[in-house]
Amino acid sequence: ASGYSLLRDPHHNKGLAFTEKERDSHYLLGLLPPAVVTQQLQVYIETPFYDQILRSGFVEGHGRSDSLFGVHRESMDPSTLEELCPVCVIWFYPGFCLHTPQIHGKERLAHQRNERNERLFYKLLIDNVEELLPIVYTPTVGEACQKYGSIFRRPQGLYISLKEKGKVLDVLKNWPERNIQVIVVTDGERILGLGDLGCQGMGIPVGKLSLYTALGGVRPSACLPVTIDVGTNNEQLLKDEFYIGLRQRRATAQEYADLLHEFMSAVKQNYGEKVLIQFEDFANHNAFTLLAKYGTTHLVFNDDIQGTASVVLAGVVAALKLIGGTLADHKFLFLGAGEAGTGIAELIALEMSKQTKIPVEETRKKIWLVDSKNHFKKPWAHDHEPVKDLLGAVKAIKPTVLIGSSGVGRTFTKEIIETVTSFNEKPLIMALSNPTSQSECTAEEAYTWSQGRAIFASGSPFDPFEYNGKVFVPGQANNAYIFPGFGLGLVISGAIRVHDDMLLAASEALAKQVSDENYNKGLIYPPFSNIRKISANIAANVAAKAYELGVATRLPRPANLVKYAESCMYSPVYRSYR
Ligand code: NAP
Ligand code: MN
Repeated sequence: ASGYSLLRDPHHNKGLAFTEKERDSHYLLGLLPPAVVTQQLQVYIETPFYDQILRSGFVEGHGRSDSLFGVHRESMDPSTLEELCPVCVIWFYPGFCLHTPQIHGKERLAHQRNERNERLFYKLLIDNVEELLPIVYTPTVGEACQKYGSIFRRPQGLYISLKEKGKVLDVLKNWPERNIQVIVVTDGERILGLGDLGCQGMGIPVGKLSLYTALGGVRPSACLPVTIDVGTNNEQLLKDEFYIGLRQRRATAQEYADLLHEFMSAVKQNYGEKVLIQFEDFANHNAFTLLAKYGTTHLVFNDDIQGTASVVLAGVVAALKLIGGTLADHKFLFLGAGEAGTGIAELIALEMSKQTKIPVEETRKKIWLVDSKNHFKKPWAHDHEPVKDLLGAVKAIKPTVLIGSSGVGRTFTKEIIETVTSFNEKPLIMALSNPTSQSECTAEEAYTWSQGRAIFASGSPFDPFEYNGKVFVPGQANNAYIFPGFGLGLVISGAIRVHDDMLLAASEALAKQVSDENYNKGLIYPPFSNIRKISANIAANVAAKAYELGVATRLPRPANLVKYAESCMYSPVYRSYR
């Protein structure tokens, strides 16, 4: 390979960190300015720009993206937009991208223009995970998806559309990497809380997989983002001349099932049984169907259902230290019985059943789910009359744990929180709906209305809040705690099936990472800065379960699974080329 192409290959590029020797032996002389720098210095150089982005308010909530560096988006010349980054899909504004850290007009960095450097990106992400997570993932990734059509320049990930029907295996063979360990696939129908973004949903698999690498240590080259395009029902996109997907309404029923089935079969044929297929952001009806259909023949995982369940169960289990009692001593009321709500409820009932040896049909009776029609959802109906509203349900059920998973904001009112607090010393309140504007209540409301007694966690992050001289730190039930470590555990054990017990194993490992110091602040999740260690522990516990269940194919079983998991994790530190 020529030095020129080495500089343009993000997997191998090190930019100015190429040593004199490497430059000499890899035909790089003259292609770089003379300075040789360390990776640490590169990180140091880039960090202020990230700081600047963060301070600009860009990542806080939606609609704050109009001003960056004092430049208004509307006034920007579209021709100066950088091409979409091939690795992360994220773009921000002229001249800057996480993989190609650069700022227009900054001479110091001018020599780095057009270079792509995967390891530097992951080093930055890992070293600044708490700050950068909201950029690489929700909420910023959503905006990247929405704008994706008009800024599309260079493709990334694999697109499988109805046009490729009958040729899906050939499409897979066009991907340059052979050893794939994790596939994240979407059909774009329910991207975050943004709805149907069709083919532009690609940002989600790409973003999730960059977290698999940064947080879970799965090699970037072993990750394959896939978008299945069966059309879109988004009228705006159908009318948009820059839309990049199939311009037709969504295929459904048999036509949909057939393409999905061809994809699932082709994946198994091409990559074998040990590749993890993560379903992401499918609409409710397809999500449950696909998981049930392929759970017995493929290694499949749905993060919206199972990942959410595992991370929330971990929070509930950890919270028991603060609110007291065993899991089975508690009564749960959910507002919202969709992918998240029913997934969480099932996993809680299962864990209760394991702990008490009571059948799951019985433990389900401790859990109540209310949907949009104020019906108690089957099989959670428990012979109860319908209630008028959530407040009615709270009064009738007297829950100790209140979980919001309806996607509708401001539903945990003052009256509801006061009522829950009236019969609980410490109510556990989890307001999971995203984004922040849809949260069932804010941290401030939960702490104030419960007079500082609530244990609170949410889907979107909230700042610490001071009440009566005590600082409360709300926990964030972020799926990124679970799925990277969960996937790593499957990969390192060579698991061929996902079992619900593995979700319990992941929950257990996460809950154990909460320290007394965290508990003292009211936290029920550990700090994100330790995520690589957390992921290794989750991976080890999941792998142990895979061996126990006889679905692990990597034999013999390593004696120390935590050490083994750590040794398998991708490190972004530069390799030396000889
Ligand atoms: P979903 O499958 O569409 O489910 C939403 C459920 O809420 C449906 O059962 C719906 O009932 C119900 N619902 C809608 N409006 C309601 C209302 N006014 N009152 C009561 N129930 C109502 O969506 P999902 O994937 O479960 O996601 C739900 C929310 O959870 C989203 O905001 C999402 O961001 C959040 N979430 C958070 C996390 C996390 O914190 N880690 C993870 C996943 C999801 P009907 O079917 O009767 O309309
Ligand atoms: Mn999702």
